[in-house]
Amino acid sequence: MIQEVAPSLYRVQIPLPNSPLKYLNSYFILGGERNLIVDTGLNRDECLEAMQQGIQELGVDLERTDFFITHMHADHFALTSRVISPSSRIFFNRPEAELIEAGFHWEPMIAYGGLNGFPRHELEAALQAHPGFKHGSEWVPHLSLIQDGQPLSVGDYNFICRITPGHTLGHTCLWEAERGILIAGDHILGDITPNIQCWRDGFDPLAMYLDSLDQTATLDIRLALPGHRGLIPDCAARIAQLKEHHHDRLREIGEILAAAPLDAYQTAARMSWDIKCDSWQEFPVAQKWFATGEAMAHLRYLENKGELRVDEESGRRVYHPAS
Ligand SMILES: [Zn+2]
Repeated sequence: MIQEVAPSLYRVQIPLPNSPLKYLNSYFILGGERNLIVDTGLNRDECLEAMQQGIQELGVDLERTDFFITHMHADHFALTSRVISPSSRIFFNRPEAELIEAGFHWEPMIAYGGLNGFPRHELEAALQAHPGFKHGSEWVPHLSLIQDGQPLSVGDYNFICRITPGHTLGHTCLWEAERGILIAGDHILGDITPNIQCWRDGFDPLAMYLDSLDQTATLDIRLALPGHRGLIPDCAARIAQLKEHHHDRLREIGEILAAAPLDAYQTAARMSWDIKCDSWQEFPVAQKWFATGEAMAHLRYLENKGELRVDEESGRRVYHPAS
């Protein structure tokens, strides 16, 4: 499905089969000299067909088209290498380019999950089912690295790159001040909450995310174009809801741990999730993986705020209230 959401700016829906996200929003901005396509989809044929249909229907000349990828997740990035032309530039953030260059290794993630109470056999199954594992890109093209605040003009659109870490380490939005349009990636979504996960030590993704939301809230956004689901007309209200959601979550975790000290996996099992399952045991393992990652992000935040204390007992981290 193709929809013109602003003059010469089109949303092309790329299906994500079997995903609760339903589809990726790819945005095509048709400029005079060069076009820009923002985000592409998974490396699978259903996504490629939808992308090719959009390219054909909108009459896009790939020889005159550049790409901007909001973040490294496979549903935004992985199809890129199959769509670009030899002359395409691919704009991308530096922190995640460095992660990709370092090569992605699942083993530290499995070990980190184990430290946080995630049973190893379940975690291996979760990673096998993960779309980034099944439909990731085979080859990473040469990237044009962008910086926070860098201008990027396409036709009549004068965008500024805004690095908004949280959902991922280098997630980047495109901001068009004159039109009040924010191409938001997965920084802000409408009827679903961007997933904030923490799978390693030494950083605090939820603190980064809440800070990014505060930065974005300073903009006079008249239309936000998210990476999934519907467009967001009232972005300021949505930012307030997202902040409230995370503060509710933090409160809930505080209450759960006041009853009993737990590891992250056990904490996730006791949190309330918007999923049609009667019990944690019935959660598909991929959902347990997302849920535990979310729990770990919130636990890290509370630990850094001094509200929780963490003890490591026989290779397992257990969280307690600090007082
Ligand atoms: Zn996404």
